[in-house]
Amino acid sequence: MEYFTLNNGVKMPAIGFGVFQIPKEETVQAVLDAIEVGYRKFDTAQSYQNEEELGQALKESGLPREEFFLTTKVWLSNYGYEKTQASIEISMKKLQTDYLDLVLLHQPFGDYYGAYRALVDLQKTGKIRAVGVSNFYPDRLSDLVAFSDQVPQVNQIEINPFFIQEDAVQNMNAENVLAESWGPFREGRDQIFTHPPLVEIGQKYQKSVAQVILRWLFQRGIASNCKSVKKERMAENFAIFDFALTEDDIASIQEMDTDTSLFMDHRTVEAVKLFKDFVESRGI
Ligand code: NAP
Repeated sequence: MEYFTLNNGVKMPAIGFGVFQIPKEETVQAVLDAIEVGYRKFDTAQSYQNEEELGQALKESGLPREEFFLTTKVWLSNYGYEKTQASIEISMKKLQTDYLDLVLLHQPFGDYYGAYRALVDLQKTGKIRAVGVSNFYPDRLSDLVAFSDQVPQVNQIEINPFFIQEDAVQNMNAENVLAESWGPFREGRDQIFTHPPLVEIGQKYQKSVAQVILRWLFQRGIASNCKSVKKERMAENFAIFDFALTEDDIASIQEMDTDTSLFMDHRTVEAVKLFKDFVESRGI
């Protein structure tokens, strides 16, 4: 496994396993399979509602807690200083751990300043090793960097060959915040796995499109999390450290950008309303 070193010296595995949209009843087995394949970084969130199952699988694996790099994300309804701190205690209980490696603020709306201060204070107590944000675009990220006492360690945003987010990545590099990709495979949409230019690059190295994408992210200095419930795909996605893309390969992938998100532009009024409705309708 390769690692990225965060701006506070903490080492984070370059590739992780995400449990978004894995049904509760499948999560324990999926995580046990991923551990067997070699994954040590696991990415969940309060809103995924499978923190308990992830915690159970890590325990069942029998491996020491320090082997794992465990990330969760604070959901919007838990923003605000006190609520965020209380929610982290609940997450740790569900995950059966007394510390978290990385905690992210899931969305850039509401009282994220209060929530961020709560994370930074918990970090000072040693309960959180690294703090960060998710879906923060350059304006919000630079705002947080400028007006809080601590630069976040990570910003996890959607990045894939059809949404390369070059400006956001450059901004993160300038702010000394590690970029982490979610949805590296665009959740399998837009025929990404059969996109001819990606297939062609893979053929040069006897690698799959999935492997080409994860390698492209790694060589751009971007950490990633990918999801599969199939063990053979987990293994495929993990095997990206035995080949290297050329600068030309990388340049041609950069040209695949369509500048369109899978879901929404977080900078719009519609996005704010959507998340507000989401919180109200789901009651979490
Ligand atoms: P993704 O990893 O881009 O794509 C997952 C899809 O690709 C699944 O349908 C999976 O199907 C398929 N797949 C995986 N490996 C494959 C392979 N080698 N060949 C063919 N198909 C393959 O999507 P994601 O789950 O949305 O993103 C990954 C992680 O990022 C999440 O699990 C979560 O931890 C994180 N995330 C964060 C946010 C955020 O707001 N911060 C948002 C979304 C996701 P099978 O399972 O059937 O193999």
